[in-house]
Amino acid sequence: MKIIMLGAPGAGKGTQAEMICEKYSLPHISTGDIFRANIKNGTELGMEAKKYMDQGLLVPDELTVKILLDRVAKDDCKNGYVLDGFPRTIPQAEVLDEALTKLGDKVDFAINVDVPDENIINRMSGRRACVTCGATYHVEYAPTKVEGVCDKCGAQLILRDDDKPETVKNRLDVYHKQTQPLIDFYSNKGILKEVDGTVNMQDVFAAIVTILG
Ligand code: AMP
Repeated sequence: MKIIMLGAPGAGKGTQAEMICEKYSLPHISTGDIFRANIKNGTELGMEAKKYMDQGLLVPDELTVKILLDRVAKDDCKNGYVLDGFPRTIPQAEVLDEALTKLGDKVDFAINVDVPDENIINRMSGRRACVTCGATYHVEYAPTKVEGVCDKCGAQLILRDDDKPETVKNRLDVYHKQTQPLIDFYSNKGILKEVDGTVNMQDVFAAIVTILG
């Protein structure tokens, strides 16, 4: 099963992607996580991506598409995957489509986690990420057992540069201009599924499970 998670930054698609991956034993592929891992390791790709990420802009398609196609070609993706944060532009979606068509394959579901902008800004200021493993939490909606400490690896939590209020506003603008058109793109393909992302995360997940079966 190949699933794409759509939704504004902060809509909770990362959390839902993790829950789907656990239930259906699929790898969770987040281009944002791949970029952040590269930044942490000081790679050339990381340094290039950081220039865009820190401003809330998208990393150029050429770079992003390459890392995504390399990742989905790995063995653990044979039975499917959940893409979280990719595609974010129509050209990215087209490249993915072409690559899958060549393999006689296709995306099964594009799930749009729908949350209005007003809620997003509020949510993102409460988001915290682990400096070491990248796990994400929310001070109110998905708190850690010990404040400021990652449940998974025990490292310190931070407010990511790209979750800071001024960057969030840019990211929302970019989302509306470049990513929202994907909703029509997948709707035209007949694989778009909408879920209300404003309810609590267990209810969002229940709606997704009903869709995936
Ligand atoms: P995320 O963790 O998915 O919110 O991504 C964080 C940042 O990484 C985004 O604001 C972009 O700068 C960059 N990024 C992640 N995925 C993509 C993508 N598919 N295309 C372009 N930039 C991306």
